[in-house]
Amino acid sequence: MIIASGPFQELDEMRIQCNICPHNCVLKNGETGLCKEKINIENSLYTLNFREITIAEPRPIEQTPFFEFYQETTALNLGGYSCNFWCPFCLNYEISYNTSSDLRSKTFSNNDILKLVKETNSKGVVFTFNEPAIMHETVIDIFSFIKRVDSSIYTAIHSNGFMSKKVIDLIIKYTDGFVFDIKGDDSFYLQMSATFDSIWNNIRKINNKKRHLELVIPLFTEFMNDNTITKIMNKLINDNINCPIIILKGRPITKYNNFTQVSQKKAEDIVKLFKENGFHESYLMGFPGSKYESSYCKKCGKITLYRYDAVPMFREDIDYCKCK
Ligand code: SF4
Ligand SMILES: [Zn+2]
Repeated sequence: MIIASGPFQELDEMRIQCNICPHNCVLKNGETGLCKEKINIENSLYTLNFREITIAEPRPIEQTPFFEFYQETTALNLGGYSCNFWCPFCLNYEISYNTSSDLRSKTFSNNDILKLVKETNSKGVVFTFNEPAIMHETVIDIFSFIKRVDSSIYTAIHSNGFMSKKVIDLIIKYTDGFVFDIKGDDSFYLQMSATFDSIWNNIRKINNKKRHLELVIPLFTEFMNDNTITKIMNKLINDNINCPIIILKGRPITKYNNFTQVSQKKAEDIVKLFKENGFHESYLMGFPGSKYESSYCKKCGKITLYRYDAVPMFREDIDYCKCK
């Protein structure tokens, strides 16, 4: 569905500049931007993917992944088309590399979404799979509706963090939780025509606005190494940001040849490093059975929530924390 979009500015009678993400694409009449979803029609900005939903399914919130946000609940996970990055290792490339003209999607009304939330016994709605910022019109429309009709339903996004100040300010208004990926250092972001700082500024903003924030650090690419991990940790410490950290093993995908196999020990050492530096809520994802999948009590050190393959479960043989 096509609707008017923004923010944008008119540069002259022939061109506008889209200001939804920091790519700031300059568009002549009829042109689309790098994401292929924003178009200049008669010197105004329109979006092509309004309410074009490709995936709508309930999942445990831990699989988004959130580890410290509405634990043990189910969320309705939604995704659309396209992205403003073109990561060669994208785990959802079937939708993120496609555009609304390439794939079949379904248009969901706000009431359709609410009905699905109730039917699937979901406690929240999460935009994930592709970049929510390039469908922020849909995200804001659905989230603002949900907050109006039932504020007990939580809202969240999983994002690459690459969005303009104006767009993150809009999304923050209606969103309870954010999980951002940090995919590498400047060398990675340069390949996306972006900068590490553009992501970092948004991380700082979410933290300053006191929204729930978790960060995912994927290990499986050539862009993540010990130096980058240390740099990320030191930046978090310097900026006084202490949020849950999820170290992600990742899985091989057909499109990507440089997949880095990280040993469980190496991945666990990284989680340990974060924990030793004050990030008590640091987790490992992708090594089912690792002790770093579970949550532990700060006081007694015992398990508060056991997880296997990122799914919370109860085990009778565990001596759980009884501090509460
Ligand atoms: S959303 Fe980003 S990538 Fe898409 S047209 Fe606008 S500035 Fe370009
Ligand atoms: Zn305890």
